Amino acid sequence: MKSINEYTIATIGSHSALQILKGAKDEGFKTILICPRGREKLYKQFGIADEIILINDYKEIMDIQEELRSKNAIFIPHASLLEYVGLENIEKFTVPYFGNKNILSFESDREVERKWLLDSGLKVPKVFPESKDIDRAVIVKFHGAGGGKGYFLAKDEHDFKKKLQPHPKKKYTIQEYVIGVPMYMHFFYSPITGELEIMGFDKRYESNVDSLGRISARDQMALPSVDPSYVIVGNVPVVVRESFLPAILEMGEHVVEQSKKLTSRGLWGPFCLESIMTPEGDTYVFEISARIVAGTNPYSHGSPYTWIKYDEPMSNGRRIAREIKIAIESDQLDKILG
Ligand code: ADP
Repeated sequence: MKSINEYTIATIGSHSALQILKGAKDEGFKTILICPRGREKLYKQFGIADEIILINDYKEIMDIQEELRSKNAIFIPHASLLEYVGLENIEKFTVPYFGNKNILSFESDREVERKWLLDSGLKVPKVFPESKDIDRAVIVKFHGAGGGKGYFLAKDEHDFKKKLQPHPKKKYTIQEYVIGVPMYMHFFYSPITGELEIMGFDKRYESNVDSLGRISARDQMALPSVDPSYVIVGNVPVVVRESFLPAILEMGEHVVEQSKKLTSRGLWGPFCLESIMTPEGDTYVFEISARIVAGTNPYSHGSPYTWIKYDEPMSNGRRIAREIKIAIESDQLDKILG
C-alpha cells in the first residue's frame, strides 16, 4: 500500500488556505504554503504549514513547479488561483492538481455556466440580452474580477442607461433581480464513493448592501448617494430548513451528472451553488463555483451536517485531504487529479 508520507499538500496563502492546510495536517499530510510575501507572519501564527515558499507575485507559482513536483506535492486550488494566476497558466501547470481543470473554463464563461445549470434542470434568473427588453427589476453585473463592485440595480431601460453611464466600455450581463434570500450551498462530490455530500451553507456579508437596511428609507433619500455595492467582506453560516434538503441534494446531483456530459470525468471535489430562495419556495441559481468557496471557512471544525455524518471535525479542507488519502491508499489517485 502506498503511504501518504510520500506526498505533501500545497496551496496558496489566501482565500481558504487555513482550513485546507489544517485539514491536510489533520489527515497526516506534510504541508506547503505558497505564500505572498508579507502574509507569512499570519500563517505562521496558525502552525498549519510545514514549509513556506515565499512569492512576490501569484504568477510566480509557475516558476516553482519543479520544486513542488520534487516534493510530491498535490496542489489544492481555490479562487485566488483562478483570479490571480489565470486560466491559461493553470492549464499549463504541471504539478498534480486536485480537481478537474477542464471544468474551470465552464464556470468562468457566464453563458456556458448558465447552459450547464439550465441543462441540469435548475431555475436560473432570466437574462436580458438587450436593455430594451427589461420588464422587471434587474441586477447589472460587470464581467471580470470586480468582486461585485459597481454592480447596480435598475427598474427599467431608462434607469439602466442612466446608471450605466459612469461605466463606459465595460462588459456586463443584465439579469433579473430575484427577491428572496441568498443561499450558498456547499457540496462535495467523491468520484471514489460516487456520493454527493451536503457540506453546509452560508450567506455572504457584503459591503455596503448588508448595511443599507440600517439606514431608514427617509435617511437614504436625504443622503447624496447610497447605491448598493456587493463587495464581499465575510461569510455567515446558515442552516437550511430541513424539508428543503432533499431538493437541494437533487440539484447538486443533477449538476454533477450534467458536468459529466460537458467534459470527460466531470466535476468532483468541493463546489458551491449560489442561489436566491424566494418566499414561493423557488430556488434560482445564479452561479456555480466549481471548487472550494470561502463560505466554507466558518466551518473549519465542520458544519452541523458534517458533524452528523462524520462524528469528527470535517471541514471542506479536511474532506479534500481525506479524499486524497483514500485515493493514495487505494491506488486511485488518477480518479481525483485533473
Ligand atoms: P460576484 O461576481 O462577486 O460573484 P455575485 O454574482 O455573487 O457576484 O453577486 C453579488 C451579489 O448579488 C450577491 O449578494 C448575490 O446574492 C446578489 N445577486 C446576484 N445575482 C442576483 C440575482 N439575480 N437576483 C438577486 N440577487 C442577486
